[in-house]
Parts: sequence; C-alpha cells; structure tokens
Amino acid sequence: MHKLTTCPYCGVGCGVDAELGEGVVAKVQGDKEHPSNYGRLCVKGSSLHEVLGTNGRLLSPLVDGQRVSWADALDRVAEELLCTIKEHGPDSVAFYLSGQLLTEDYYVANKLIKGFIGTANVDTNSRLCMSSAVAGYKRAFGSDTVPCCYDDLEQTDLLVLVGSNTAWNHPILFQRMQAAKRKNPDLKVVVVDPRRTATCDLADLHLAIKPGTDSELFSGLLSYISSEDLVNRAYVTQFTEGFNEAISAASEQFNSRAELAEYCGIDLATLEQFYQLFSATDKVISFYSQGVNQSSSGTDNSNAIINCHLATGRIGYPGAGPFSITGQPNAMGGREVGGLANQLAAHMDFSSAEAIDRVGRFWDAPNIAQANGLTAVNLFQAVEKGEIKAVWVMGTNPAVSLPNTNQVSRALEECPLVVVSDCMASTETIRYADICLPATGWSEKNGTVTNAERRISRQRGLLPPSGEAKHDWWIISEVAKRMGYAEAFDYQHPYQIFAEHAELSGFENDGKRDFDISLFSDITETAYDALKPVQWPVTNDAPYGTARMFADGRFYTPSGKARFIPVTANKPKQLPTPELPYVMNTGRLRDQWHTMAMTGRTSRLFSHRDEPFVELCQADAQKEGIVEGELVKLSHPQGEYIGRARITDDQRPGELFVPMHWNGEFSAKARMGVLLEPVTDPISGQPESKHGRVAIEAL
Ligand code: SF4
Repeated sequence: MHKLTTCPYCGVGCGVDAELGEGVVAKVQGDKEHPSNYGRLCVKGSSLHEVLGTNGRLLSPLVDGQRVSWADALDRVAEELLCTIKEHGPDSVAFYLSGQLLTEDYYVANKLIKGFIGTANVDTNSRLCMSSAVAGYKRAFGSDTVPCCYDDLEQTDLLVLVGSNTAWNHPILFQRMQAAKRKNPDLKVVVVDPRRTATCDLADLHLAIKPGTDSELFSGLLSYISSEDLVNRAYVTQFTEGFNEAISAASEQFNSRAELAEYCGIDLATLEQFYQLFSATDKVISFYSQGVNQSSSGTDNSNAIINCHLATGRIGYPGAGPFSITGQPNAMGGREVGGLANQLAAHMDFSSAEAIDRVGRFWDAPNIAQANGLTAVNLFQAVEKGEIKAVWVMGTNPAVSLPNTNQVSRALEECPLVVVSDCMASTETIRYADICLPATGWSEKNGTVTNAERRISRQRGLLPPSGEAKHDWWIISEVAKRMGYAEAFDYQHPYQIFAEHAELSGFENDGKRDFDISLFSDITETAYDALKPVQWPVTNDAPYGTARMFADGRFYTPSGKARFIPVTANKPKQLPTPELPYVMNTGRLRDQWHTMAMTGRTSRLFSHRDEPFVELCQADAQKEGIVEGELVKLSHPQGEYIGRARITDDQRPGELFVPMHWNGEFSAKARMGVLLEPVTDPISGQPESKHGRVAIEAL
C-alpha cells in the first residue's frame, strides 16, 4: 500500500510516496505528481524510512521524571499555567514553537496563547531562519508575500543565489536549477557567498564577498541601475513609492564602485560583471536564504535586494522576482497562522487595532493579546531574568540552536516551569523539562505544511503513534480545555482546525490581505484527506491557487504601491578583535538536519561528514600551526567548540566555517551556538548567526 505525504526536513517541501509494509514504512520515493519535486528526493528525504522506530523516542508523559497518565500530565500543565498567570499575569508565560510543527498544531498553540492566555510571548525557531525575509517583504509589499514559485527557477535567464548553499540545503531545487541550465545554456548563475560552496559548481560567476556586505553590494547595484539610466521608469512611477529616497541612500554609501568593491572584498571587474548581467537580463530571480537573513542587518539585506527588483520592474512575471527560501518544512505555515511574536494570525499583526479586534471577535477570545511579544533571543533572556516563569517548548531544541546556548540552558535550569513536547526523549532541551509530553513524529502526524513557494501540502499519518504519543494539536487543545476554554478548542480532527484557519483567512478580508484560503472554510474530512498541493491564495478568482504574486502591480500597502526602502551601510556587530581574530561562518551540511534528532539516527547520513569540524584556509592553518585532521578548539568568552581541522581553499582568509548540527547527544563540545553572541537584527529580531567571532588553536 502506498500513501502520499511530505518530507519533514527542508522548506523545499518535497512530496513523498511512502510504501507501507507490516506496521512500517518499507520504502520512500519522490511523489511523481508533486509539483515541488516531480518524483525527486535528496539523500535526507530518501532515507526517511531509516530514521523511524521507537528507539530514542519519548513514549510516555513524565512529570518530574516519573511516568504518569496523560490525564495527570495535562492536569498538571493546565494547573501550573493557571497558577502562574494568576500570580504573575499572562506575560509571565511563553511558548516556543517550531517550523517542524504542522499548521494545525501551530494554529491551536497561537490561538491559545494570544487569544485566551492573553500574551504574544510566543515565538518559533523560524525566527532564526527567515524572520528578516518576512520583515523585508512586509516593509516593501505591505505583506509577507513570497512573489515567486519554483517554476520561475526554470523560466529565468539569470539566477542570483545570495547567501544560499542551495546544493546542500535545498538540494531538489538545486537539481531543478541544474536541469534548467542544461536545457537553457544561456541561463547564467551568479553565486554571492563568502565561501566557495558546492553551489558554486553551477556558477558562471562567484562573488566571494566579505561576510556581512550583502546590503552594500545590492545598494551598489541599485545605484548602478540609476546612474546607468537602467531604471524602469514606467514601473517605478505607476507601481512604487520612495524611489528617490532609496537611490539617495544607496548612492551616498561609497564614493566610487572601486571603493565599494574593496569594501565587499572582491575585484572591481567581478562586481561590474555582476551589475552588467543583472541590468541586461529581463528575467532575473534573486534567490536568498540564511546568509542574507541571519544578520544584524538581515531586513535591510532583504530590502536592498527587493529595491533592485522594483527599480527594474523585475517582479510579478515568470522568471523574475526576489525569492526568499525558508529553511524549515513549515516555516511558511507558521507565518500564516501567526507563529511569530509580532504576528497575530492569518497575516494580520498588532500594528492594527482593527486587526486585533477582528481576530478577537473571530475566536470569541476573552483575552486577546494587544501588542508584540518577545522574540526568541529576548524570550529566553526574559526567562533567565525571571520575568517569564513558565515556558512550553514544542518540537525544537533551543538549548542547541539559539545563540549563546549556555545562557539558554541557564534560563531553562532556573525557570520554575518548563514543559517540553517532543517526539525524542533525550534532546538537550528536554533535560530541563519538569513535564515531558510525548508528541507524534513524522509518519504519525496528520495535517498540512506550506513550503517556500506558498504551496500547501498534506503531511499524512502513515503509522499509528509510537507508545503513548499524541498529536501536538490534541495536547494543546486538552490543556486549553482544562484551563476553561473547552468550547473554543473542541477539535476532534485536524481538518476542523484547517477549516477554521481557512475561514479566518477570509474573515472581513475583501482582498485586503494576501493570505486567503477561504475556499477551504467548508472543507470536509474526505476532501482534506484528498487535498492536493496548492499555492495560496486560493480564492474564487483563483480556485486552483496562485503561482506568482503581484502580476497586476497591486501591493498590500495603504497606497497599493510597493515601497522602496532606503538602506544605509551596516557592519556586522560581531566584528573580529585582537582576542577573537577570526570570523566564524555557520551553516548546514548536505546530509544532516538541524540538531540531528532525526538524521542522527541513521549511519548512512554520517558517511558524508561524520564528526564536528572547522574549515579554514591553508594560510590561516600555517599561521596557527594547525595541520589537516587534528583537533582544534574555537574559543569565545561564552564557551568553546572542539572539532577536526579541514583545510580548504574554499574558505576566505580570516574566516572559519563550522556546521550547526552537533550537540550533546553526539558531541558535548561541539555546540557552535555557545560561541554566537545574542546579537539580533533590530527590525526582525533574527540573530546574527552567520557572523560570529572566535579564536582558534590546535589542541
Ligand atoms: Fe526533503 Fe528538502 Fe531533500 Fe526535498 S530537498 S527531500 S524537502 S530534505
């Protein structure tokens, strides 16, 4: 028997065709009909059946380390939350969610805390992934709208990959790009990345810029477009505002292109070659991810890219647009339901009293939150300060993934109530839990996810839950009922939650908001089970979904026009010092996913890279007396990291690369997060995880 579902790893959101055997997933292959991957799977996706089973799973509810019944565990969570709220107010409670949650889980969690508990102290690990892209889109378009779709990668004539090792981190999209280049030899590929990654194998041009110079590179491009009279005046006049201010800000940054090239650490000829290519090509996709977002100026980086597309009118038609790519499988679904602390639900936020009132009325919510809550880094700082006294972590591992992870561990250690819902029993975070709630994992969960091209797909239950594991939406709803909100959380099946979410998306909308899937408001269980992948918005005008946005030049700002954003030069905050002389760049590996809770369960996925490492160039290795393969230590006042030296010319001098995955379960001394300072983008709250500073020595 075969069932169709979706891969739970990256934001590509590939469709999976699972072959079921006797109580197991016997085999997986790509879903040939799924429009995101057309039958392909990468090495992580194709090993999904190997990481299942009960080994290492959290199988029963635990309170203070003792096995208890579900009823007792849920009673205890509800009682403790009510008690905390009564004594210290709603803002003393926080939820920390995950892009691994399904949209239905996310929706219910957000509804409980923002509508009924009455605080917006709910954030998600998506904050670490793409919140700068969200903020950039909202500033430019008035909405968090990804304008493009994957087909655009094949229809374009110029792919500009910025801060994205697509070959490793979004492998199926990279395969689509490779195929597109084979089919269209005129397709040019530019990679902007300090490192020479596997993605550069496809590049006609590689700009190995200094880390943290992205916005200056694109502001320079905007200035070039203007000075060379390449602006699409008709588009700018009819569909945008703020052009002159953005041009002034861009032009004032450097006295000459030569000065800019030097600032970016590349030669002038390479810089100008890129600018000429961009300017001379009508169909340009700028494809960007964490290298752009994980910066203390991540939002400005996004807007510097978007400004160039607006100035040339390269948006809203096939093969053109600024295309941010999410890291997580359901980062987009989390954005839809308001999983971030500065969102409300259905792409509404706290900037509008009308929106707060609308969501409150729709939910019939007694305590609708009135203002933004704390974002991830600030949230765990507030836990350490004692301002937050109860935190519920769902499906994520902040004691490994957040910057300054030792601080996060301290905060969790000292917090009076830590609840963790997870499918795994031994994450770093679960060690601090007073109450552990076993959640279903991939192959057991049942709901929807939305990938990086706005495509909603079903993740279907293939197997019964392991042990006593329950779905996250059920766990949250049962706690809500015990807190006195039974009527609002009386869900029996995820299709009911999806239908409510869809109804809210259309509630008093009238085309004012981009996210609208109200055609699904009356979806039945049968239709939900059969739901085919579809890109939102899904409306009467677009019943089969919407491939790309802004074709009509209408945006979601008050004026209906897209906004240019003036961007000024901004250096990273974690700059090298004599004591910490190296820039530390961080990232993912081809065959691992985040903190390895799943991918770490199959030896096959360790054949690519089997231990923590540090990459550095030959010149730096010589300077530090380090030889290939020896253990090295990275130091920072916050902590240390130990890994094996890999000497490579792919690394710029003065810069190191460290993978993000390893943690206590696999290697106690290789949590790279301990080295990252808790520096964030002031607009998006996203941490500057791509630019640490460290010292290195041989052990
Ligand atoms: Fe899964 Fe991403 Fe690989 Fe597709 S590209 S199979 S979604 S990990």
